Amino acid sequence: MKTILISDVQEAVPYIEKSQVVAFPTETVYGLGANTYDEKAINKIFEAKGRPQDNPLIVHIADKKQVNVLAVEVNSVAKKIIKEFFPGPITIILKKNEIIPDNVTAGLDTIAIRMPASKIARDFIKACDVPIAAPSANLSGSPSPTQFTHVMQDFAGKIPCIIIGPPSQYGLESTVLDCTTEKPEILRPGIITAEDLKKAGIDVINSYSFFKDGIVKSPGQKYRHYAPKAKVKIYSGSKDIKPDSAFIGITALDKKIQEQFKKLKICKNLLEYAKNLFSFFRDCDEKGIQFIYVQKVEEKGIGMAIMNRLKKAVG
Ligand code: AMP
Ligand code: MG
Repeated sequence: MKTILISDVQEAVPYIEKSQVVAFPTETVYGLGANTYDEKAINKIFEAKGRPQDNPLIVHIADKKQVNVLAVEVNSVAKKIIKEFFPGPITIILKKNEIIPDNVTAGLDTIAIRMPASKIARDFIKACDVPIAAPSANLSGSPSPTQFTHVMQDFAGKIPCIIIGPPSQYGLESTVLDCTTEKPEILRPGIITAEDLKKAGIDVINSYSFFKDGIVKSPGQKYRHYAPKAKVKIYSGSKDIKPDSAFIGITALDKKIQEQFKKLKICKNLLEYAKNLFSFFRDCDEKGIQFIYVQKVEEKGIGMAIMNRLKKAVG
């Protein structure tokens, strides 16, 4: 299959209309999208990614009003999130409307909804005139794509169309907030933190226990994820450093120690760490690096999202 690269979102519309998938930029990571109401097109997302059938997709919207079509019982917490944080890097889980095909939600009676802040993403959704269901545009298990070149690494020749945009502003997937429970719960930590939600008057459970009472609440969280080909290790001091290795973190190490790494990235702060993590993983793989040492950060604020991804990449 020929994969075309486009920057005019209008050119993507015929693909969506013909039950095809289209990769598109967002401020979190690039997504692999299809028409939410088109069961056949949704299946193609699972096939292209090699995604387990029990891992539901996020439905992306361009207009806040679309929440009322996708979900029933838009409760007061959801209304507040929509008012304060949409559009932005947060996904809400609500009881789904039965018109949504079962494969979008992997058979769950709930639906994940996000309104991206990225203008290209919203223009694409608007142009298609349907909500776009999309997981991240990477092969299942590999690091999420934060640049269109990453999408090409995984899908060139396998999908018909990629919309080119800038590198993702945040570089980590959205915060997932379950709004169906009495007290809302963060199922996946992201750039919008429990502290941010608290400031807006929303008290959340923030243990991201994706498994409770024998029920998997966030199917995506049970899989190994975000893993490059290189082996990822939490950095625990200079004694441990193997040859052919790289380091990413936020604290500069001793000059002598730094020199032992073939590739090194010291980020200015947590936001930059988040933004660079997945592209660093992919760069290391391209250079044939065997070990990637990642620096542990405090599990607080954005640090919680970074540690969640690091632990999953370590496996
Ligand atoms: P991705 O876009 O690739 O990050 O995958 C979507 C994420 O949203 C996965 O971690 C899913 O488990 C999660 N998700 C989607 N729908 C639901 C839902 N109804 N309930 C809980 N988690 C969901
Ligand atoms: Mg993903």
